[in-house]
Amino acid sequence: MKISISIIAVVLVLGALMIDQRTNLFIYAMTNNELPELLPPKDEGEAVVWFDDYYTVQRIDERTFAIGEPRYYQFNFNYLILGESRAIIFDAGTGQRDIRAVVESLTDLPLTFVPSHLHYDHIGNEVVFEKTALIDLPHLRQRAVNNTLPLTRFEHLGEVEGYALPELMISEWLIPNETIDLGNRPLLVLYTPGHTEDSISLFDQESGYLFAGDFLYPGQLYGFLPNSSMGDYLQGAQTIESVSGDSLRVFGAHRDASMGVPELNLETVIRLRETLNGIRSGALESTGTYPVVYEVSDRVQLLSEPKWLQDWTPMYPGLHSKNN
Ligand SMILES: [Zn+2]
Repeated sequence: MKISISIIAVVLVLGALMIDQRTNLFIYAMTNNELPELLPPKDEGEAVVWFDDYYTVQRIDERTFAIGEPRYYQFNFNYLILGESRAIIFDAGTGQRDIRAVVESLTDLPLTFVPSHLHYDHIGNEVVFEKTALIDLPHLRQRAVNNTLPLTRFEHLGEVEGYALPELMISEWLIPNETIDLGNRPLLVLYTPGHTEDSISLFDQESGYLFAGDFLYPGQLYGFLPNSSMGDYLQGAQTIESVSGDSLRVFGAHRDASMGVPELNLETVIRLRETLNGIRSGALESTGTYPVVYEVSDRVQLLSEPKWLQDWTPMYPGLHSKNN
């Protein structure tokens, strides 16, 4: 398996001309199995407060906070979502710094950790939360004996930066298309695979916020990883479109060179869906060798396997949004 990840890194280098800074450093981490150095801090704009020398906090509204890692080469963003009776932290970084200290400075509410997906840069690794809620998918539930889920290498990819495979202790299973209530703040759980087969988004219908994880953010989307799938990506885009109103604010889990929280809108979701349809029908051309690059919008590109390797069959077609 280790060899396979290195092979991905080598072929990635072949396409290296088209890739951005984050992808570049990801290849560095893959080929060296080590964490690239922290980036120097830069101006994050007036809306952003540094919590310490690593984390930033940006208030989206009085009960929604973006917790950024702008010095980590992948520019991760995690979201603290507060209701009246409980709080969710949606993603927890790699755990190289314990995000709970940031969360505790912002709320006293009981906290549940919800990973957007199972990659090592979102699940906090050594940081263990009192409560963890995970998407209820047949292949995960089957492996979770006594609600303890050992992750697999291709699900986690942690060897890229030298992280050991963790086990997640699951306290709550999230049913796709069902609502979690944080106390006067319902969140809809959307199954939005594509980047990985376990990817979800959380949708706050009332405020129009979509917390999209690695499904969508400004920069290069990774649709070429071991459990990525183009058919799943299309399913995810359709699901988001089917539930969203016009004023959707999409908050992603990584960003490009821009300042502050990575935010996109409904138009980008529609562009993504149109791009995927165009790729499937053969109408759209890619650039590069492996991964190939498709332009989604001026701020988003989709990296995928070349056409002959693309898989267009959704893993769980039944988990589409009910509105579809
Ligand atoms: Zn990921």
